[in-house]
Amino acid sequence: MQRDLLNKWRRAISERLLPWFIENRRAFPWRQRRTPYRVWISELMLQQTRTEQVVPYFLRFMKSFPTLKALAQAPRQDVLKAWEGLGYYARARNIHETARRLLALHRGRFPREVDGLRALPGIGPYTAAAIASLAFGVDAAVVDGNVIRVLSRLMAFGQDTRLGSARRQFQAWADCLLVKGQSALFNEAMMELGAIVCTPRKPRCGVCPLQSVCMAFAGGDPEAFPRRPKKARVPHKVVGAGVVVDTRGRVLIAQRKDDSMLGGLWEFPGGSREEGETLPQCIVRELEEELGIRTEPGPHLTTVHHAYSHFTIELHAYWMRIHQGRPRAIHCAAFTWVKLSELRKYPFSKADLTIIEALEARGEVHRFPSSDDYEEDLARYTVCVGKANSMPSALNRVSSSRFKRSQKAMKSQ
Ligand code: SF4
Repeated sequence: MQRDLLNKWRRAISERLLPWFIENRRAFPWRQRRTPYRVWISELMLQQTRTEQVVPYFLRFMKSFPTLKALAQAPRQDVLKAWEGLGYYARARNIHETARRLLALHRGRFPREVDGLRALPGIGPYTAAAIASLAFGVDAAVVDGNVIRVLSRLMAFGQDTRLGSARRQFQAWADCLLVKGQSALFNEAMMELGAIVCTPRKPRCGVCPLQSVCMAFAGGDPEAFPRRPKKARVPHKVVGAGVVVDTRGRVLIAQRKDDSMLGGLWEFPGGSREEGETLPQCIVRELEEELGIRTEPGPHLTTVHHAYSHFTIELHAYWMRIHQGRPRAIHCAAFTWVKLSELRKYPFSKADLTIIEALEARGEVHRFPSSDDYEEDLARYTVCVGKANSMPSALNRVSSSRFKRSQKAMKSQ
């Protein structure tokens, strides 16, 4: 980069961006009483999640775990419960592990330097730079999605920004532009500009403090940056889940293994449908593999569509009851029977929370649903998250003969 161009950007940042930020910064709870602990929690919550959405989570989390010591000494399940709905649950598990390690090995204190922070579980280059600069004033530049967007437009950067070489280039530019001694202000100003002015779509160049030095603006098409090749099609999975009830009206839930996706969370047991299987057959097989129980499928309860970062699912929940065996934790970390009123004490993923909503809409389970409930269930409890819902095709192939009868009755109407 030419020296005079770099100096021009540096001047614009000091003279325009920083004053703009001081004037326009949004008030968030983590910007008050800034401690390493509060910076750490907020930065992890803010990754992949909209800022406004994080506020209630952050406040609740700070109320439940006001100090690092309180967090380290809390049961992990309570931490996952406080994180419920934020996604990327490995972050919650790492937070808990890091808090314990800091308490045990560092007397509850965070290292001040980037390298020391990076040695902790779940703290990558971005989070380490954020804690070091925002909490300790260390001259470390953060590079997140907002900063990448701002820099790629300022420089009209023509390469794919997801490449490792591009990431290194952005870090080098950010390090170069960092206003020494004012790292917290610089980092927050860059991120805030990306969040509220230099937005992914329709950037507000008219009010941007860096407009005069922005090469993408000068080129007339800022939205063309950052450059990214078209995303590949996201895989779609069809998944069956069993709402297994016992004669006492309790529901069987299983805890996912730590090393799996959503590790540590609870779920209605089940799994992906295999080639040629109906959904009830899939659930029967999964329950036998996961918990060692033979089950009988009942009516369909609800269908949930949910998008994760790298695939989408269509989750079909069916009533089930055990006809042979007792549950054992074979392919899960644990299992338990719970009353409907107690389900929300456990941490679940968003998709499973939607099944809980469908159950709550019915009230406590007093008996196994019969075929007479079937049509009504279909009409009342099919829930959709994110996409238009469709009737599950596998419903036409429900294996139990009584449900075939009710299916026939439904078709004849
Ligand atoms: Fe972004 Fe427009 Fe500002 Fe350039 S001028 S940094 S494109 S908002």
